This record gives sequence, C-alpha cells and structure tokens, in this order.
Amino acid sequence: MNLPFQIDLSRKTAVVTGAGGVLCSGFSKALAACGARVALLDINQAAAQKYADEITAAGGTAKAYECDVLNRASVEAAHAQIAADFGPCDILLNGAGGNNPRATTTNEYYFEGDLDKDIATFFNLDPKGVEFVFNLNFLGTLIPTQVFTQDMLGRESCCIVNISSMNAYTPLTKIPAYSGAKAAISNFTQWLAVHFSKAGIRVNAIAPGFFVTIQNEKLLFNDDGTPTPRTDKILAGTPMERFGKPEELNGALLYLISEEAASFVTGIVIPVDGGFSAYSGV
Ligand code: NAD
Repeated sequence: MNLPFQIDLSRKTAVVTGAGGVLCSGFSKALAACGARVALLDINQAAAQKYADEITAAGGTAKAYECDVLNRASVEAAHAQIAADFGPCDILLNGAGGNNPRATTTNEYYFEGDLDKDIATFFNLDPKGVEFVFNLNFLGTLIPTQVFTQDMLGRESCCIVNISSMNAYTPLTKIPAYSGAKAAISNFTQWLAVHFSKAGIRVNAIAPGFFVTIQNEKLLFNDDGTPTPRTDKILAGTPMERFGKPEELNGALLYLISEEAASFVTGIVIPVDGGFSAYSGV
C-alpha cells in the first residue's frame, strides 16, 4: 500500500469502528500497512470481513467483528474477543457515523407555501430520525470510547482519533442533525483530550472534506450517475475543485497517531478538505 510516510505500529492493536465503510476501511488498511493488528468493527459484519480478508491477503494482521456501536453489550462483547485475539487496545479510531434521510430536509431554504407540499420540511422532520443521527455519531463515539479506553489506562502511547466533518465548522444545508452531531464530535474531542491528559491518552480528530461514500452518495449523485446541484456547489466551495480520495486522509491519521510526530498534540481537529473550510466563497 502507498503511504505518505511510514510509522511503526508493529506492537500496537488498533480498533476501528465503521470499518466496513469506505473511509474507515482505508484507515484500517493504512494502520495494518504500518504493522498494527487491526480489529475492524462494523454493524455490517460481511463488509468488515471483506476488508479484513483484503488486509490479511496483503500480509497484514486483521479480524472483523460484528459490533453495534450504540449497544454497549455489543461493544463489550467485541472488546472481550479483541482482547483475547490481539490484546489490549492501543489506538481507537471512532469512525462509525453518517447521516440519514429521515433527518434531511428536501430543500435548502424554507419558502412560503412549502407546508402545503409533500416534501420533508424542517417542520415535519422525524424526531426519531434526528435522534438516530445524533445517537449514531455522538453516542456511537462515546460508548466505544468508554469501553476501549479502559485498556489504555496505565499504559503508554495510547491514543484516540475521532471523525468530525466540515459540518462541525459551519452547518451544511438540509442536514441539521448530522451538522449538530459532528459539531458535538469536535467539542467532545476537546473534552476527552482534557479529561485524559493526565492519563497520557491523546485524543484528536480528523475533519474530512468531501469524499464520495455510501452514506452521502444519494445527496451527491442522481440515480443515473450525473452530479446533483449539491455536488456542483460542493466543488465550487472547494478551492481545489474536486472530491478527496480516501487515501488522502492517511497522512493526517498517521501524524496524529505517531508518538514521535504528535507527542504534544491533543485536542485538535485537522481538516483535510481541499481548502473548503478556509474559503468564504468570495
Ligand atoms: P460509510 O457509510 O461508507 O461507512 C460507515 C460505516 O459505519 C458503514 O460500514 C456502516 O455499516 C457502519 N455503521 C453504521 N452504523 C453502525 C453502528 N451502529 N455500529 C457499527 N457500525 C455502524 O461512510 P464513510 O463516509 O466512510 O464514513 C466514515 C466516517 O466519516 C463517518 O463518521 C462519517 O460521518 C465521516 N465523514 C465522512 C465524510 C465523507 O465525505 N464521506 C466527510 C466527513 C466525515
């Protein structure tokens, strides 16, 4: 695998949630390529298994675990199995997350007359959908952190990496719950960094710009594959004028994990966004 630089993770166990997805399978491969034993956790066991098999076939060490990050018993069961298979967790990457159509408005703006239309407006957003998105992103980070950080207490060079988003800086239209939940992730990253500072556990986050993955492809492309107006707006708002490639996140990940490079770095969120968060649009 082509990595921007190499770090030695050969004595480390890394736990990655959402590892059956596009970005976190890429993260899992990068960690394995640096020698880590990688536990790929996903509610979709088959998806995680596929990537674990790919890592193993490439000479790495990986196993897939079915795990629902919202169910403490499920996370604890995965934890117990990983401890038996690979030993205690050194690196936790909280990647499970995403938006949901039930928490998405049809239009960007409210216009008079919208209430008479058969569309999802702010007024009829399903609170259960909003709750689902908040829970998946926030509790889905908190619960695995509660479980796996216990392994890190009293040990050296352990760290946590969370996944935030551009939404955390300025909310994107249509997706209020996802925006709020990712703002909560950036905030929680700082909270955890302070909370665990005396325990030597560094906690940081990556805020990816726009990458085409399963959770957002319906917003970005029509069924016939043509770009939606939202894609045009995203690319116009990204000074580098393109979507990111998942492997372009690896440099930030390896930097944050590296004890040599980032030993004094905790509580930060690194945007990897082609300039999106720096650009006012003018
Ligand atoms: P993805 O949909 O490809 O992957 C998400 C994975 O999480 C899926 O494999 C899914 O099965 C898993 N998952 C869902 N619910 C789960 C649960 N309850 N327990 C365990 N696993 C569960 O999406 P992705 O884009 O690769 O997302 C990875 C992370 O990156 C997410 O936190 C997402 O919010 C974030 N992110 C993505 C982008 C982007 O442009 N794609 C941008 C910013 C942030």
